[in-house]
Amino acid sequence: MPEKSLPTMPPDPSHHIRQIFIEEGCAHLPYVQEICERAQLEGLVIADRTEPPVSYGSFPKNLQSGKQHLLLCKNRGAFFKPCPGTREYRCCDYHVLNIGMGCPMDCSYCILQAYLNNPWLTFFVNTDELFAELDLAFTRTTQFWRIGTGEFTDSLALDHITGLSPLLIRYMRDKKRGVLELKTKSVAINHLAGLDHNGRTIIAWSLNAPAIMAKEEIRTASLDERLAAARQVAAMGYKVAFHFDPIIYHQGWQEGYRATIKKLFATVPAEKIAWISLGALRFLPPLKAIALSRFPGSTFFHEEFITGLDNKKRYFRPLRVEMYTHILAELRAVASPHTCLYFCMESDEIWQECGFAPGKSQSLPDDLDQAFARTL
Ligand code: SF4
Repeated sequence: MPEKSLPTMPPDPSHHIRQIFIEEGCAHLPYVQEICERAQLEGLVIADRTEPPVSYGSFPKNLQSGKQHLLLCKNRGAFFKPCPGTREYRCCDYHVLNIGMGCPMDCSYCILQAYLNNPWLTFFVNTDELFAELDLAFTRTTQFWRIGTGEFTDSLALDHITGLSPLLIRYMRDKKRGVLELKTKSVAINHLAGLDHNGRTIIAWSLNAPAIMAKEEIRTASLDERLAAARQVAAMGYKVAFHFDPIIYHQGWQEGYRATIKKLFATVPAEKIAWISLGALRFLPPLKAIALSRFPGSTFFHEEFITGLDNKKRYFRPLRVEMYTHILAELRAVASPHTCLYFCMESDEIWQECGFAPGKSQSLPDDLDQAFARTL
C-alpha cells in the first residue's frame, strides 16, 4: 500500500550552503565557530581580503555555484546607512543595516545579479561593530529609525545558521525610537518564537501573483507557506508587513494579484498588518541580459520599458497606474484603515493619479512611523 504523503516544510534556504570560508582575521571569533556548528560544516580559513579558492566559471553562470558558498568576514565599511533612494521618486526614509551580501534563493528578477561583484554569499561577523554603530545612532540623535536588513540579502534566509535576527530583535526591544523590519521570502521563523521582541520588530514578506511566485522565485517558500508563516508570527505577537514588489505585468495579472490578496486576508488578521507597499518592476539596464542568460523563460523582460529618472528601466506610466489602481482597489476593500498602503519609489504624480490625496506622498515617512505606533 502506498504510504500517505506527509505535509512537508519547504527546505530552509540556509541548507543550500555547501561550503563555508572564513577570513583569517575572524577565525578566532566564537560567533564564527557557532555559525559553522549550526551549519554542520567545517569552515576553510583563507587570508583576509582574498577570494574563496574556487573556480566559479564565467559570469553570470557562476552565480549558480556561488550561492552554495558562504564567506564569513569583517565588514570594513559602514553597517548602517540610509536606503539608497533617489531624489526624483518619493522615498520612505528607511535605513539599511548591511548584514551581508547575496542570497541563497534565486529570483529571476533579483537586482543583486547586476549589483554585486562576487558570486559567493557574504555574511559579516564583526557584529560588535554593527551594534556599536546602532548604539551611536540611538544615542546621538533624536530621530525615529525604521531599520531593515533586507537590502542586499534576504533578512531570514541564512538566519538558522547565523542566528543574527534574535540578537537584533533583543537589541531593539527597548529602543523607543526605532523599529526593525525583517523582510523575507523564506519561512525560517521557528527561532523567532518566545523572543522578547516588545513589539519593536515587524516580520515582512514579499508577495506576488501566484504564477510569478511559482515560476520566477526559485528556492523560495510558496504563497501558502509564506502566509501560514505570517499567521504564525502574528500569533507570536509580532506585527507583520507585506511588499508587492516587483509587480510584474503578465497574462492574467489582474486575477493573479486579486487571488494573492484574497488569500492574504483570509489567512492573516488584517489588524496585525502595519503596512503594505507596492512597487512595479524596475531594474538596472544590465540586469536584462544577465537574467535572460540564466532564466531564458523569463519572458516579462521582453515587455517595453522606459528609462526612469533614476536610470532604471520601468513600465510606461499608464501601465504602472493601471496595475497600481487595480491592486490598490483590491487592498482598500479589505485592509484595515490603520494599515499604511504606499508606493516604493514612485513620483508624486503617480500617487495622485492612483487616488492618494495631494501631499500624501510627502508625508510617507511620518505615515509609516504612525502606522507602526498604532500597532504598539
Ligand atoms: S529572495 Fe530577494 S535577495 Fe533573494 S534572490 Fe530573491 S529577490 Fe534576490
